[in-house]
Amino acid sequence: MGTALITGGSRGIGAQTVRAFAKKGWRTAFFYHTSEAAAQALAAQTGAVAIRCDVSDSQSVKQACAEALRVLSHIDVLVNNAGIAQQKLFTDITDDDWQRMLGVNLSGAFYVSREVLPGMISRRYGRIINVGSIWGQVGASCEVHYSAAKAGLIGLTKGLAKEVAPSGVTVNCICPGVIETDMLGSFSPDDLAVLADETPVGRLGTAEDVAHSILWLADEKSTFVTGQVVGVNGGFGE
Ligand code: NDP
Repeated sequence: MGTALITGGSRGIGAQTVRAFAKKGWRTAFFYHTSEAAAQALAAQTGAVAIRCDVSDSQSVKQACAEALRVLSHIDVLVNNAGIAQQKLFTDITDDDWQRMLGVNLSGAFYVSREVLPGMISRRYGRIINVGSIWGQVGASCEVHYSAAKAGLIGLTKGLAKEVAPSGVTVNCICPGVIETDMLGSFSPDDLAVLADETPVGRLGTAEDVAHSILWLADEKSTFVTGQVVGVNGGFGE
């Protein structure tokens, strides 16, 4: 097994992805931002290395990626998972809300990929897996800044996939539907029941569902899959 770097590894989908990679024997490092205790507990549980990083800050990303490369020696798989969400009417979105949303969800993937790619290109091997969202595909009312950032991530994925395919690097975007994590914290039990009901498979997704698909794209044999947007949504959408 190779090496993997996962951003937003302290909670939710990222934490489950760290567990899944570590369990399969990958040497794994992950970035966290504010959840220090959760990150340290996960590191102790899995043997993965926790590194503090604000992915929306290019200097923080530079330092954290240097540290990840020091501990892993090279990076085979990068999972750009760190993300934030916010529900607001479009006309209530402030400049700060907009900048923060794009900074974490879109610029974060740009900054981290820019640090990690040169090593992948020189080794002529790499897997970049971006975690987008169904809302980046179909748009969500009251989450327009989130939808725009995630749609941007799909554009980043498709363009970069073409640019680096000749160098042996694949780039794909997983787009989860409704997944039970802290991100759904603002939804009431009734809202969640409605969302489960609207999901054709009849339940909300789990972080395990998403981690499983990430592992599939990370596989050495998934070499002919690139530039793709992979929905992990139980049929939810439109
Ligand atoms: P959580 O809120 O459970 O976890 C978010 C993770 O992102 C945390 O580890 C957090 O770190 C990290 N993070 C947030 N801001 C930053 C930052 N500035 N720098 C570095 N890390 C940061 O979310 P999920 O696990 O649900 O979401 C993971 C990804 O999946 C996101 O990109 C999200 O948009 C996407 N997604 C989720 C869906 C869902 O229904 N849950 C649906 C569709 C997409 P810390 O806690 O240490 O600050």
